[in-house]
Amino acid sequence: MADLYTDVRYIKGIGEKKAQALHKLGVFTLYDLVSYFPRKYEDRSQYKPIALTMSGETVCIQAMVADTPRLTRVRRGLDLVKLRAVDESGVMDITFFNQPYAKDNLHRGESYVFYGKIEANGSRRSMVNPVYEREGAVNGITGRIVPIYRLGAGLNQRIMLQSIRQGLNDCGEQLPELLPESIRERCQLVQARYAYENIHFPADFGALELARRRLIFDELFILACALGRLRGERVRERGVVVNAVDLEEFWSVLPFRPTNAQRRAVDQAVADLQSGSVMNRLVQGDVGSGKTLVAAALIWTVWKSGLSSALMAPTEILADQHFETLTSLLSPLGLRIGKLTGAMTAKEKRETKEALKNGELDLIIGTHALFSADVTYANLGLVITDEQHRFGVGQRSALIAKSIKPHVLVMSATPIPRTLALILYGDLDVSIIDELPPGRQKVDTFAVDESYRERLNGFIRKLCGEGRQVFVVCPMVDENDDLALPLKSAEEHARELAAVFPDLHVACVHGKMKAKEKDAVMAAFVAGEINILVSTTVIEVGVDVPNAALMIVENAERFGLSQLHQLRGRVGRGQHKSYCVLVSDANGDDVRARLSILCQTNDGFKISEEDLRLRGPGDFFGSRQHGLPEMHIADLGADMDVLTRAQQEANALLAEDPQLSRPEHTQLRERVDQLFRVSADSFN
Ligand code: ADP
Ligand code: MG
Repeated sequence: MADLYTDVRYIKGIGEKKAQALHKLGVFTLYDLVSYFPRKYEDRSQYKPIALTMSGETVCIQAMVADTPRLTRVRRGLDLVKLRAVDESGVMDITFFNQPYAKDNLHRGESYVFYGKIEANGSRRSMVNPVYEREGAVNGITGRIVPIYRLGAGLNQRIMLQSIRQGLNDCGEQLPELLPESIRERCQLVQARYAYENIHFPADFGALELARRRLIFDELFILACALGRLRGERVRERGVVVNAVDLEEFWSVLPFRPTNAQRRAVDQAVADLQSGSVMNRLVQGDVGSGKTLVAAALIWTVWKSGLSSALMAPTEILADQHFETLTSLLSPLGLRIGKLTGAMTAKEKRETKEALKNGELDLIIGTHALFSADVTYANLGLVITDEQHRFGVGQRSALIAKSIKPHVLVMSATPIPRTLALILYGDLDVSIIDELPPGRQKVDTFAVDESYRERLNGFIRKLCGEGRQVFVVCPMVDENDDLALPLKSAEEHARELAAVFPDLHVACVHGKMKAKEKDAVMAAFVAGEINILVSTTVIEVGVDVPNAALMIVENAERFGLSQLHQLRGRVGRGQHKSYCVLVSDANGDDVRARLSILCQTNDGFKISEEDLRLRGPGDFFGSRQHGLPEMHIADLGADMDVLTRAQQEANALLAEDPQLSRPEHTQLRERVDQLFRVSADSFN
């Protein structure tokens, strides 16, 4: 007797070879098999008499083979099988290309169902390469909504269909009901058995929808439980308790008042620091929202308790900038501050490491060099990472896998909708800075096409004449790109601009350059030695050049809204009125609509919500970077409502049974644990 964990080899017709092909798809057990959901469906439920069909429609025809199928070999590599089929209303010619076996499968005088696209020529009807099966076939591939699976070598749709049918027949009854009855009722979800049956063999589209909703919910609910437990476990990790401080003492030395959002983020983090547990907090705030100040307040707070801090930036140039900003803020208060980057000489590095070891530094700022094995910290109490792009859940923990357990603050300038933040940063507590410091000027944004090129060049000239600097961003061009589109490569565009502005200094940075070369160009731009900097998105990182007043994005249609917003955040950081020009020749209402959102608002959270709505979650969940397990059926962008609901229910359940240790939650817990194991593997 088979159960859910029986090997797929058990299925009739699955031998060693096919079993291996299934393993490649991640299918090992019958449970895996029935959880291998269709990629799409074909509606093969419509039957029609031959005479009533119309050209171009795809239908099922019930008809008898009227003559013996004829096989002709037209030439090497081209076999044709031709036959005629008839029903009460008419005749249909059928042709198979390179399916010689059709000749033996189809017999004169017998009735079949043919499914395919009709071609009509006058009163003649024909079909090419139809799907077919004997009339009245049980569990067949016609006459209903048919699932289509993603296949691997050595597999075909028929094998998948039959195997899954057998799997469901033999152990469908054993499919566990992972969801507590109360949740199922509250959320109006169908039973598991029904869902698995109808996701593969839907009775109709209504049943399919119910099945999908249930299975999407399951997947997101398990994910939410897994992340919730991760949070729960972490909270129990002991952390150094930091003494109470009077933050007013810190705020009062600033040249300006902190915004309410900054205060709130700091208060939340300070509460973590004093809680006895390790802090793991994400501070999310739009570019320019003042995250550095939040970091400074916390560095000062732990320093008051005799602890040191480390701040890690993604690039050398950002490390330099943080070093300058934080030194001017914190050294007057008595903190000793050091820097550790790859660009330093061996001697400087050695001295800095020595100082760190001896506890002579209260704050060290650097790149990932900070976490190399030969760096020893005395009294490290707080680690801050300024991440522009998301590190995966696992990478983050590798970062702090030193023997000590310092508090961790992650700063991110990628505003993402709150629901998504909970998933993406599910193991972190989240503070949001949703307010910009007062007096910020809005960056005026325009979407234009090629016909504005001359005026745009005039504008560049005017601003550079006033002493301002200009960023120009071109999309990354890679080999896979469709070259039918004339895309601007950064280097090419820099040459063009240099020809237009022979008297200005034009430079280029792109991803293929060595980190050192990139940093050198960036440093020259920061120093004002370059007027126009052409780049790929490498400059997306939060470099601060207050003198830059114009951001031009070429082929703007190639960028996500959130990305464009990030780019725009590179200007408007000083006292100069700043502009962003999005150049795109792509027509189409959707491109215009997307770009116009940027012209209308400067609110990063609003933009990211629109981006998610318009483009789906690809932008946020692009690569596997995020370190989340792959979703089988749920779409984290499109299924947002279900996600929110699943999160609420998961949190409520975990509040009652944090370990999922009650007997009725055993199977749920197993699935949740399994998700951890699988995704822990994919971190590495
Ligand atoms: P980001 O969140 O992008 O890292 P920064 O921390 O670099 O932003 O801050 C951007 C600018 O805003 C800095 O020049 C900083 O001095 C200034 N700033 C930060 N907080 C305030 C405030 N409360 N009032 C006025 N200016 C502020
Ligand atoms: Mg910053």
